Amino acid sequence: MNARTKQLYQELVLDHNRNPRNYRSMEVHSHHAHGHNPLCGDRLELFLKVDADGLVADVSFIGDGCAISKASASMMTAAVKGKTVADAETLFQEFHAMSMGTLDPESAPNHLGKLAVFAGVRDLPARVKCATLAWHTLDAALHGHEQTSTE
Ligand code: ZN
Repeated sequence: MNARTKQLYQELVLDHNRNPRNYRSMEVHSHHAHGHNPLCGDRLELFLKVDADGLVADVSFIGDGCAISKASASMMTAAVKGKTVADAETLFQEFHAMSMGTLDPESAPNHLGKLAVFAGVRDLPARVKCATLAWHTLDAALHGHEQTSTE
């Protein structure tokens, strides 16, 4: 990570951790899943409302975890809200590939936008699971699985 990316990453993680977007439970939802990262102790519960056109009309989460897991969940909800389920799945694939180091957002075409600030986690193996937990939980919820674990 260069200095500017690192600074942007720190600012975004701080901001989204302090003031997480879409942080609430949702009584009426179409999809729902629990995610758990035993390595760090991060837990989150994700709610989705997918409408008849396949659009993610609403998405929210609650949970308890480290700053990275919370910021990543907050940014994930902001990124997929209003997108189609297919576009949300594409983002999941890209985010996952980026965190594994197989997609470099600086050189490969992608839809990650601000989410690209998480590219640096590929160098922090213990943090990869914190950053990807929300995305794995999203994928689980969209496929009708109630539980997912990073282990
Ligand atoms: Zn964590």
